[in-house]
Amino acid sequence: MTNALRKILIQHLRTEELFGIRDVPMTVTQALTLGRQFAGIGATAANTSPQGNVGSRVERGAVSHPTLPRGAEGDRGGSPKAGFAPRPSNASAEANLARLKILDDSKVKGCTHCELHSGRTQTVFGQGSPTARIIFVGEGPGYEEDKQGLAFVGPAGQLLTKMIIAMGLTRDEVYICNVVKCRPPGNRTPSAEEILACSPYLHEQIAIIQPEMIIALGAPAAKTLLNTAESIGKLRGRFHQYHPPISEPRAQATGSGRVPQPLGRGTDELSASAAYSTVNATPLMPTYHPAYLLRNPDDKRKVWDDLQLVMARMGLGVKTAG
Ligand code: SF4
Repeated sequence: MTNALRKILIQHLRTEELFGIRDVPMTVTQALTLGRQFAGIGATAANTSPQGNVGSRVERGAVSHPTLPRGAEGDRGGSPKAGFAPRPSNASAEANLARLKILDDSKVKGCTHCELHSGRTQTVFGQGSPTARIIFVGEGPGYEEDKQGLAFVGPAGQLLTKMIIAMGLTRDEVYICNVVKCRPPGNRTPSAEEILACSPYLHEQIAIIQPEMIIALGAPAAKTLLNTAESIGKLRGRFHQYHPPISEPRAQATGSGRVPQPLGRGTDELSASAAYSTVNATPLMPTYHPAYLLRNPDDKRKVWDDLQLVMARMGLGVKTAG
């Protein structure tokens, strides 16, 4: 084994350890194959990696597109982007930041569109890069988030930070937000009414930032963004497509005392009340919420598998320099 390959393998294992994965469910041969793929040597990704899906390039910004798993709705209907567009200029970043601030200041901070406003300390809009390539979307603020006004700063947020670092990124390079911007009492799951009322803000954030990838953390985020009632267990592990709504669901949801159905049927109702764009779709990977992983650490491996799919698709990976 060359020094370079050894270094890559060590870094890969350290990354997994950082993320909290201590088991290595692969043979030495598979590990070596994985290392070769990370190094961009030899074998194709799709048929030789432990999960059959790890990319063949590692440098950030690489434009190779490994074979993608089939069966995901979006992947059946179209191919991944043919190459990453150059990242927006500083002027775009400033413009996006200004638009996000206007949305937050003029609509979200004073919002009373659902009952959650009555129990909040403050709204939690979201934070990160206004030109992020990846948006992480969670469920709603918890105790710490409500106190600090920042998304994912509690224990689940700390695990999310590890996930982001394991991907070779920093929190400043991605954008992090939630489906609902006010804390549900007792950290309960937001209701369908609350999600319906708040999700237009999320759609607007995504429209402003225009990420290349959305990672939906947990069932409420995945169901809301994919307009589906499928369980997170069935959704995760493959790419889907996020289609932005053309009309604003909330305007119809709150206009005349209409009562949305529970989550799942509620999202079905979304499709009845809002049109969804069939163009401008964004790849979306659903995976488990970090709070769920804190209770079910054995599923960290599945999340890491999901994140590696994203890394492969985006040309992210283990840094070999240094
Ligand atoms: S959760 Fe969203 S819709 Fe409900 S009050 Fe807060 S900002 Fe408004």
